[in-house]
Amino acid sequence: MNKSVVNQDVLTPPYGRLRVAIDAPLAASFDYLAPPDATPADIGLRVVVPFGTGRRVGLILAVLSLDADLDPDAPLAAQLKVAETILRDLPPLPTDWVNLCLFAASYYQAAPGEALLQAIPTGLRKPDPTKRRALKHPETIVGRVDARPVLTVGQAAVVDQLSARLEGYSANLLFGVTGSGKTEVYLRLIEVALARDQQVLLLVPEINLTPLLEARVTRRFPDVPVVSLHSEVTEAARARHFAAALNGEARIVIGTRLAVFTPMPELGLIIVDEEHDPAYKQLEGMRYHARDLAVWRARQRGVPIVLGSATPSPESWANVQSGRYQRLDLPERAYADAVLPEITLLDTRRLTLDEGLSATLLEELAQGLAAGEQSLLFINRRGYAPVLTCTACGWISNCRRCAAHRVVHRLDRTLRCHHCGDTSPIPRQCPDCGNADLRPVGRGTQRVEEALQTHFPQARILRVDRDVATTRKQWEALEAQISSQNVDILVGTQMLAKGHDFPALTRVGVVGADAGLFAADWRAPERLFAQLMQVAGRAGRADRPGRVIVQTEHPEHPLYQCLLRHDVPGFLTLELSERQRAGFPPYAAQAIVRAEAKQLETVLAFLQRIRSLIPIDQHPEVFIYDPVPMRMVRLAGRERAQLLVESPSRLALQAFLNDWLPRISQGKGTTRGHAPGGVRWGVEVDPLEC
Ligand code: ADP
Ligand code: ZN
Ligand code: ZN
Repeated sequence: MNKSVVNQDVLTPPYGRLRVAIDAPLAASFDYLAPPDATPADIGLRVVVPFGTGRRVGLILAVLSLDADLDPDAPLAAQLKVAETILRDLPPLPTDWVNLCLFAASYYQAAPGEALLQAIPTGLRKPDPTKRRALKHPETIVGRVDARPVLTVGQAAVVDQLSARLEGYSANLLFGVTGSGKTEVYLRLIEVALARDQQVLLLVPEINLTPLLEARVTRRFPDVPVVSLHSEVTEAARARHFAAALNGEARIVIGTRLAVFTPMPELGLIIVDEEHDPAYKQLEGMRYHARDLAVWRARQRGVPIVLGSATPSPESWANVQSGRYQRLDLPERAYADAVLPEITLLDTRRLTLDEGLSATLLEELAQGLAAGEQSLLFINRRGYAPVLTCTACGWISNCRRCAAHRVVHRLDRTLRCHHCGDTSPIPRQCPDCGNADLRPVGRGTQRVEEALQTHFPQARILRVDRDVATTRKQWEALEAQISSQNVDILVGTQMLAKGHDFPALTRVGVVGADAGLFAADWRAPERLFAQLMQVAGRAGRADRPGRVIVQTEHPEHPLYQCLLRHDVPGFLTLELSERQRAGFPPYAAQAIVRAEAKQLETVLAFLQRIRSLIPIDQHPEVFIYDPVPMRMVRLAGRERAQLLVESPSRLALQAFLNDWLPRISQGKGTTRGHAPGGVRWGVEVDPLEC
């Protein structure tokens, strides 16, 4: 909000006009008659206003004179409804915070009111005062205190370099192998920022990673108020934590992507851990990328940002190459004796496999058992088998509502769609021909778990995937079980790969990874590489060296060759050169319009129509592709298609979208999000999947 909009001279108390942002996909703002207590200092406060048939909490963007004589488009004073109550329980949301939300709205093509209001916790957006949350002080957890370890030479060098850059904006990519002690570097930088009376924002990709980090931070800084913000924080606590950050009480904010919208008046440092993680992308409503917004925020506030990763995103790597980011390396593990695990590629082409497992891998697991050490078998597919087929007629377990197979789940004997959730019992016989010989094809975690139980009946085997760990609590219980070393063999998906420290784990087996090499999604290899590096990084963190065996039919593939050498820069260079050749991001900017309806023709016709809404010669730098059905064309009974827009220039793409999208919404019966024929549509800027 810019104060320049406010002209105090023309304000005529007691009857001013409030310009209010409201969570609605319509206009940018709405005008109301100000209540008698309104003053220009109320900009940034929440206000209860009548809206439609109900009441809403909005945000005051401006306090104007009643006749708003500066603005010919403003509604006449006689048409205005009266704003009810200005809420004074919180300080005003600061200008920089409003500007962050407005920037996000404009860049990601969302309604400004939606972006602003949705960035405020729901507990603070209830028009009914009894439902609004009372604001208490954030709780400080006092417990064990951690001493700071002596930094390794590498850490000390990195901390020195970064400490020298804490004044003003700088974007820094901390590239450190798993276990290199990146978190310790964060803690040292936080210490410096705290000493300078600054607030710190620490972003993590996953809720599961917040408790660990929060515990580490509070043990290091026991007297410092720390708050967490993510979707599992209760509504009341979220309101409280947001308020504490806003009024400066909370000095450290730890959170997932939504925490990037925390108002922090004394923000002095932003850290984004695991910056490459796709979980930073919001996939509903305003589809923002929290890492990218965090970089924007750092620049806006003139503060340093540190992006940490063992496998940086190609986007960030390209920013290093172009000089926009500074790169700092931690090439070695922090723990004195811990060395990087030895990775072996096991060519399975001429091997006989038992339930997908080679004799070599089984022997490796047997050795682990004999030595009393933990092993991990990584298979990034949950369920028993990805598909059930009839051996007689070829029937396959397709989902009735999606263009996808339903997955066999053995434990509760169901067929389950992993996309729409559709579930039914496993049929006893083929629904088409009655044949009773139905066969599960392929394998997932449950099947591997079962096979391992047969091979190692004496072993304690634990499966970790989204079927057994749906909530953070369940995950924490599993993690405790793993850490207490009551587990010999872990079977798990990528859930297990991220950020967790299992000191007794020495052996990792990877099966079924090849699928990621040739997937239609061109980002699949990048994700596979990051996952494999991470999962390999789980092995041998303490004093025991780790061993990793990757079963593959393509051992010569460059991705595996880079993995073998732990050569992350090599992989990124390869990846970026391919993207450059293909004209993919970051060498092009993309936006995608996705639409869905009952019939595919309706969707394609809609996309075809909006494609022609704009004379393309007005935007010579922008290329609009033809509408195409999405890779998974049917989801939950609706047909889906998309339209990709591309430009070598981010600015040109933005200009195009600003010209184009309003034209779409002007169409008859069309709004942001809906169009005739039951079409639902939306736009995503910088899509991660297309
Ligand atoms: P990363 O975040 O890079 O994966 P962590 O910060 O979690 O690495 O550190 C990995 C392990 O090394 C942790 O157990 C941590 O306590 C330990 N560690 C980190 N820095 C040091 C240090 N300077 N001295 C001793 N141990 C350290
Ligand atoms: Zn059949
Ligand atoms: Zn389905």
